[in-house]
Amino acid sequence: MKTPRTLTPEQERQEVALRRLEKLAAVGQEASTIAHEINNPLESLTNLLYLMKLSDSMDEVQGYVATAQQELSRVTEITLQTLRFHRHVSRPAAADLGSLVRSLMTLHASRMLLRKVVVEWRVRDAPRVICLEGEIRQVLNNLIRNALDAMSGPGTLWIRVAPVCEAVGSREGVRLTVADNGEGIPQEMAGRLFELFQTTKEKTGTGVGLWVSRGIVEKHGGTIRARSRRTDESGRRSGTVFSVWLPVEHPSLAA
Ligand code: ADP
Repeated sequence: MKTPRTLTPEQERQEVALRRLEKLAAVGQEASTIAHEINNPLESLTNLLYLMKLSDSMDEVQGYVATAQQELSRVTEITLQTLRFHRHVSRPAAADLGSLVRSLMTLHASRMLLRKVVVEWRVRDAPRVICLEGEIRQVLNNLIRNALDAMSGPGTLWIRVAPVCEAVGSREGVRLTVADNGEGIPQEMAGRLFELFQTTKEKTGTGVGLWVSRGIVEKHGGTIRARSRRTDESGRRSGTVFSVWLPVEHPSLAA
C-alpha cells in the first residue's frame, strides 16, 4: 500500500510549477522533433527541384515530380497529425490508443530509419478510453523516446495494445505496451525509475519524463509498470518493457 504524501503549501506550489515546466519542455522537445522530421522531406524537395532544373529529359523530370509529391505528402501528414493532436487537449474525450501511438510514430520515423529500428505491431480491437489526449500522448511519447534512446544501433520496438480488465476490481480497460531490445535499465535506476530527477543520460536527460508520466497515468486512474533486463555473462539479451493500463472511464475524468 502506498502511504499518502503530505506536502507543505510551498512544496505543493513547487510541484505545480515543476509540472508546468515539464509541459513546456515537452512542447519544446516535440517542436524540435517535428522541425527535424519536416526538414528531411524539405531538403529532398530542394534537391529534386535542382535536378529538375538541370534535366532536359521529360521522363526524368516526371520521375522527380512523382518523388517530390511523395515528399510533400509526408510534410502534410506530419503537420496534420500535429494539428489534430493539439486540438481539444484540455477536455477529456474518447481516444483510440492504437491510433494515438501510430500517429506518434510519424514523428520518430526518420530517427528510426537512420538507426535501423523496426516496429512490430500487435494492436487488438480495444475500446476507446476517456482521457486527456494531449497528456496520454505525452506519456506515450516519453516511452517511445526512452526506448529509442536505449537503442544505440539497430533494434526492435514492440507496440502492443489489448483490451484488459483490471485484476482487482475488474474495471474494463486497455493495456498498451512499449518494449525494446535496447541496453536495459541501469542497475542504479531500477528502484527509483519513477522518482523525480533520476536520469542516467548525462547530457540529454532531465529525469522528469517518467515521473510526469506516472502522475498523468495515475490521474487517469491507471497504472504504469516497467520490467527490464541487462545483458549478463550468460549472454541473455537485454531489453525493457513499459506497460500502461488505463481504465475505459475514470470518474474524475468523465466527459
Ligand atoms: P530522462 O529520459 O530525461 O533520463 P526519464 O524519467 O524519462 O528521464 O527516464 C529516467 C531514466 O530511466 C533514464 O535516464 C534511463 O536511465 C531509464 N530508462 C527509461 N526508459 C528506459 C528504457 N526503455 N531503456 C533503458 N533505460 C530506460
